[in-house]
Amino acid sequence: MAVAQFSKAADRLNLDPNVRKRFVVPKRALMVSVPIKMDDDRIEVFNGYRVHHDYTLGPSKGGIRYHPDVNLGEVCALAMWMTWKCGLMGLPFGGAKGGINCDPTKLSNHELQRLTRRYTAEIIQFIGPDIDVPAPDVGTNEQIMAWIMDTYSQLKGYSVPEIVTGKPVTIGGSLGRTEATGRGVVYCLMEAFKHLKTDPAGRTAAIQGFGNVGANAARILHEEGCRVIAVSDVKSGVHNPKGLDIPALLDHVSKTRYVEGFSGGDRIDNAALLELPCDVLIPAALSKQITEENASRISCRILVEAANGPTTPEADAILLDKGVFLIPDILANAGGVTVSYFEWVQDLQNFFWKEKEINEKLQEIMGSAFQNVLQLSLKEKVDMRLAALMLSIKKIAQAKLERGIFP
Ligand code: NAD
Repeated sequence: MAVAQFSKAADRLNLDPNVRKRFVVPKRALMVSVPIKMDDDRIEVFNGYRVHHDYTLGPSKGGIRYHPDVNLGEVCALAMWMTWKCGLMGLPFGGAKGGINCDPTKLSNHELQRLTRRYTAEIIQFIGPDIDVPAPDVGTNEQIMAWIMDTYSQLKGYSVPEIVTGKPVTIGGSLGRTEATGRGVVYCLMEAFKHLKTDPAGRTAAIQGFGNVGANAARILHEEGCRVIAVSDVKSGVHNPKGLDIPALLDHVSKTRYVEGFSGGDRIDNAALLELPCDVLIPAALSKQITEENASRISCRILVEAANGPTTPEADAILLDKGVFLIPDILANAGGVTVSYFEWVQDLQNFFWKEKEINEKLQEIMGSAFQNVLQLSLKEKVDMRLAALMLSIKKIAQAKLERGIFP
């Protein structure tokens, strides 16, 4: 999917064939076995990965995913998308991604900590503040970033907060990072409303995934006066056409971990949620949720890809035909990596910014990236995904050609 999207943009750009050859494969890929002692004294061996797709513009950057579907191919695709995302936002990073094939919900806190520390030790030559800077993704959070920072620092012999982003504020994390991806999703959506001359007040939204990104997007949308009519997680979803009481739902999830059992709406499954008639659909869980099979039944006006790769290329074509305005993942969810960049800069300078300053800088960067993509899409008469990829790939390819080839 990542290569198909890239190839379409490369064709349109008439990209230098030598650069093209290089971009379809990662720069480096590392597979590690991660043996840990389980709580019952058994040794279990997990498969871990870290992939650097490109580092033309600076150290590589990307999240670490803990999920049972993690495999080398998926990590490579996610790393490639990170390259385009950083290029599009004008950040001095290349793309990377990592992950461990595991089900974090079935591991105890002690097991998760041992897994994280051993994985960090296994990939230690591969990461570093000037080499590759990890961050949270599906199944990982601030606590896991804190363990990575601590393990790396213990092995180096001094504190290195700038080794990861998305860590707790007490150890050098940035204000606003936890909610940054969800906030960026909403900033993009507000730009889209402006472009489509639509008043956000009272507009309906359905959100698949109620983790870091989905829950924060829901909260901020609710504060902006939109009506969030449905949300779901891995177990089930909840639907209320009048609009869900999002603060009450967040409270319920903080106590029970899942959306299930929330009394403020009717139960809905993930497939039905995606097909609800609504103004805005926000997939904020996993990839390949909108496919050739269900795309014709999607009935939203705007689709904001908060997740990475939620729409397949076949579904893209169907949605375009239906006139859905799609904000692609490399733009829509780039708020996270943008504030991760702010965190890295603050750590390197040992000088920390106020939350207001962070949100204002984020809004400015997201707003101008959205406008750049929109203007190119109107000028070239291409969809927003193709425009976003063209902008980013052109820029990184030019940088590559200017650097030349070694030796
Ligand atoms: P998370 O682990 O915090 O939350 C994931 C959510 O998806 C949970 O509510 C989970 O229950 C739900 N989910 C899992 N499987 C599902 C399924 N089959 N159907 C429906 N829901 C399911 O993860 P996150 O950090 O919120 O990431 C969500 C998406 O956003 C991912 O695609 C990730 O790559 C992308 N993303 C995250 C960040 C970030 O800063 N965290 C940045 C950019 C992109």
